[in-house]
Amino acid sequence: MTLNLFDSHINLHGEQYDDDRDEVLVRARELGVNRFISICDKMDNFSKIREFTGCHDDMWCSVGVHPHYAKDYLDLTSDELVELAQDPKVCGIGETGLDLHYGYSEIELQESSFRKHIAAARETNLPLIVHSREADELMGNILEEEMHKGRFQPLMHCYTSGVELAKRAIDLDAYFSVSGILSFKKANDVRAVAEIMPLDRIILETDCPYLAPTPYRGRRNEPGYLVDVCRAFAELRGLTMEEAAQLTTENCMRLFGRVT
Ligand SMILES: [Zn+2]
Repeated sequence: MTLNLFDSHINLHGEQYDDDRDEVLVRARELGVNRFISICDKMDNFSKIREFTGCHDDMWCSVGVHPHYAKDYLDLTSDELVELAQDPKVCGIGETGLDLHYGYSEIELQESSFRKHIAAARETNLPLIVHSREADELMGNILEEEMHKGRFQPLMHCYTSGVELAKRAIDLDAYFSVSGILSFKKANDVRAVAEIMPLDRIILETDCPYLAPTPYRGRRNEPGYLVDVCRAFAELRGLTMEEAAQLTTENCMRLFGRVT
């Protein structure tokens, strides 16, 4: 059985892969994971990420600043993001959003950075890769308010927030990505929300090196483990592995229009 899977969120530029970055990809391809999006977490890493992406025909990347680092890029402009997004290998804006769990950057700074990313997503027509943690109400408010100003396409990445925000995001026609958390024994809340997501709006991600699915939990995650994320998703939604792989890859291709 050969699957055709798409890992929509990898953080392969991290030092965790300094010894075997290419081997990790080879292993993933052998398992049927044959498209990857390398996520930009800060502007200082963009050129490294872009360069690595350029070495692989099956890889694309994003441009943006993770909410953790919002405080380090106070001068960031949406024009700067739009400019870098002219590159055909750039297929999404982010990851951006709000993280009140860690709160590494003040909330006002996260919010202003997030709105700049939204403006860039609106202008470029590229999907906005949204990180949201313990910020459900504010996240919903900002998404609705900004959508009112002009349409953009949100992707709620690694969704672990509540049902209410999920419903508000569904009303905005957002996509959702699910991760290895789906396979964690105690993640009943996350599974419950994943059950109400529209099937034509769900995609898969590993978010590697974090969140390795069962049975690799606690170890370094890698894109090949997307097979196990797919299995958890297929079981939850009563699909076969082939159906789950096909569905999520088709969704991903529709969402990330620049990916071929
Ligand atoms: Zn994230």
